Order: sequence, then C-alpha cells, then structure tokens
Amino acid sequence: MKITVIGSGYVGLVTGTGLANLGNDVLCLDVDRKKIAMLKKGRVPIYEPGLEELFSRNIREKRLSFTTDTGLAVRFAEIVIIAVGTPAGKDACADLSYVRMAAESIGRHMNAYKAIVTKSTVPVGTADMIKAVVRKSQKRKVAFDVVSNPEFLREGAAVRDFENPDRIIVGVESERARGIMEELYKSLARTGRPIMFTDIKSAELIKYASNSMLATRISFMNQLSALCERTGADIKEVARGMGLDSRIGPRFLQAGIGYGGSCFPKDVLALIGMLRKEKCDASLFEAVHRINEHQKLTVVRKLERLMSLRGKKIAVWGLAFKPKTDDVRQAPAIAIIRELLSRGAKVNACDPVAIGNARNELEGVMFHSDPYKAVAGCDALLIVTEWDLFRNLDKGRIKALLKNPVVIDGRNIYDPKEMRRAGFSYFGVGRASN
Ligand code: NAD
Repeated sequence: MKITVIGSGYVGLVTGTGLANLGNDVLCLDVDRKKIAMLKKGRVPIYEPGLEELFSRNIREKRLSFTTDTGLAVRFAEIVIIAVGTPAGKDACADLSYVRMAAESIGRHMNAYKAIVTKSTVPVGTADMIKAVVRKSQKRKVAFDVVSNPEFLREGAAVRDFENPDRIIVGVESERARGIMEELYKSLARTGRPIMFTDIKSAELIKYASNSMLATRISFMNQLSALCERTGADIKEVARGMGLDSRIGPRFLQAGIGYGGSCFPKDVLALIGMLRKEKCDASLFEAVHRINEHQKLTVVRKLERLMSLRGKKIAVWGLAFKPKTDDVRQAPAIAIIRELLSRGAKVNACDPVAIGNARNELEGVMFHSDPYKAVAGCDALLIVTEWDLFRNLDKGRIKALLKNPVVIDGRNIYDPKEMRRAGFSYFGVGRASN
C-alpha cells in the first residue's frame, strides 16, 4: 500500500519505517527541514534500538522516503497518517494546533479519497474537529474518512512494539475505512496480534485511559513508599507481594522518582482537562499528577537533609526520562538538576546517549559519558535513570572517587545492605536507609 506519514518524530519515523518494512511504499513528511535533510542523508535523528538497521534497509530497498513538500505528500497516498506532536497546552488541555495544521494541509491538497488516520494522542472528539477542518479547507469536495488508531509504542522498545504490539486499536465509522485498516494491518494480524475495531471516540479515549492507568500505578506506589520509609517496610518487597496477585500483576509497581517523558505527564493532564471540560470529577487523576510532581524532587529533599547544597558538587547519573532512549522531554533529571543549580550546587551529569538533548535544556552543567568521571570529587551521587550501565560498576572505585560516600538512589537499583557494607551512606526510595 502507499502510505503518507505526517510528522517524522519518534512515532512517525518508527511507524513509517515499520510500515515500509512490511512491504509498503511510505513517504514521511515533516515541517522541520533540518530533520528531513538528515533523514534524506540516511541518518536517524533519534536514538532508538534497532531503528537504524531497519531504516537503512528500507531506504536501500526504496520503500521509505522523506519530504517537506506537503502537497506531494498528501497526493502520494490513499492512507495519510497524522503523527504530529500533541503537547500539553493551556488549562491542562492538549495543544491540538499541529493536528489542526496537518488536517488543513490534507484538506487543501486532497485530490482523491483519503483515509486520514490519527496516530497522535488526541482528546475525545478530535476526529470531529479534523473532519470539520478538512471539509473547510478542501478546494473541491472529495470523500474521506477519519480513523483513530492511537499508538502505544514505548520509546526504547519502539521497533519491537511496532512489530509485536499487545493490541492494535482502530476506531472507524465506515466499512470502507475498516477495509483499508484491515488491509494495512493484515500481516501483523496474521502473526496473531489482536486488532480491536471500535468506534472513534472510544479509540481516542483508550489511549488516555491506558497511559493514565499506568501513571496511577506509579503514583500509587510512590505514595506508599513514604509510608515504607517511616515504618521500615520495604516498597520492593511490598511490590513483589502485590505483583504475585494475578489480578494485579508485577508491572508498573516500581516506586522511584516518578514518571516523565513526552507522554504520561501530558496525557494525565489532558485527561484531567477533558474531565473538567465535561464537568466530571477529575480528583483521582489530579492526585496522580500532584503525587508525581512531588515525587520528582524527593531525591533533592533527601540530599538537603544531609547537607547544605550551596557550593557542593553533585553527580547525577541519568538524563533520559527512562533507559534506552535519548529523550529528555519532561525527564525528572532535568527538573532535579535545575533544582540543584537553583540551590547553589554544581552538577556533573552522566548519560550514555542523552547528553546531546540535555545540553539544549540545561546550562552550567558538566556532562560526562563515563560514570566514574562524573562522580570524581563529588559530595554525593544521585541516581535518576536506571540505565543497565549503572548497575554493575566497581563500587570500591566509586567510593574512592566520591568526596563523601553518599548515594541517593531514586530508582532502587542497588541493594541497601550491600551498599552499606561497601561503606556508603545509601538512601533508596521506600526502603530502610541509614
Ligand atoms: P515528536 O515531537 O517527536 O514528533 C512530531 C513531529 O511532527 C516533529 O518532527 C514535528 O516537526 C512534526 N510536525 C509538526 N507539525 C507538522 C505538520 N503540520 N506537518 C508535518 N510535520 C509536522 O512527537 P512524538 O513523540 O513522535 O509524538 C507524536 C504523537 O504520538 C503525540 O501525540 C504523542 O503523544 C503520541 N505518542 C508518542 C509516543 C512516544 O513514545 N513518543 C508513544 C505513543 C504516542
């Protein structure tokens, strides 16, 4: 099939590459000329395991190409996928300006029937807005369908998630659109991946409901972690015991420094915005958001209880919002480092792949890709992202390099007893500390 993808970011690029790899002819569009120039040169602008190889293969085999020409892109295919950003806007509502712009250009350049497929995460009712905008900007009346096909891929595992999704959700309201989507996902359905067809509004809400459920589990455990610290219970043991209940399951029960990234924070906020707009009670999700905001800076509060931060040098391990990605959008590390700097501390930050992106967000920070170099001469170490790289390092060497052997572990990657035996003052989240 011929497919156009509007927006060549994390979702658009992975989706475009994945669909090309299934044998389709894919044209990816972006308004960012620098990004398209880079992609045309065969370079992937993001760090995503497995993407580069797939990308190169499909470019070589001429199934994947890139453009900044909107007219060309819209005319190219019957299926036009919208994968532009939907960041947090005013009053906890999603900013739909990029989606609106994409819809306008589709309407303006439409020459024949199109299935307009929204992969961006959009509030309930957005399909109606897209329909109205497309109709208004059409030069001549051409039939089209709007389809909701929310994306669930996880950064760091996006290629695998594209090829093995837990489920594919498709909201349609015409048989024609349903047929096109069945054809599009035929090969994934053949490998046993479940496709759920539903109405458009439910499909739009499934995405927010799923992310907000996961965010709720994280805030739930983070709130419990404070009780563990006061009473001597261990949150990891509590999570292990809870996770053995098949109704609960073990995933997303890790206490830590809260969720970040370009999705959970804005999606919880957007759900709050939708509920408020409809005059519904939003208190559950407001609490989830509030707990998360509070949790982000607990590591700084813990450190401040031990030392005044003015003039101190603090090592921060991890900048990306989670391991295996270079994405620092809404990363707790950025908020934590800003807080440390505002309290007069100096920061040595370390990350294996996210330094480039973090440099655009932070000033006055020393960056290191080597974790040992980052801790040298520091008054304390904060662990913010649970990269595997940090798990099996030489603890004796770290202790010798630190000025004070203080470790605040925001991700509970170490065993408290072992750390104490190694001579550290070690503080995890929701666990006995010294
Ligand atoms: P992104 O910021 O990485 O990419 C968006 C791209 O769209 C940018 O390159 C931007 O230049 C481009 N763009 C904006 N307006 C455009 C226009 N009118 N025409 C052409 N290109 C345009 O964003 P992302 O992380 O890929 O997220 C995209 C959407 O997918 C969001 O709604 C997000 O919530 C959702 N989503 C993201 C993830 C994720 O892990 N990143 C997962 C699931 C869903």
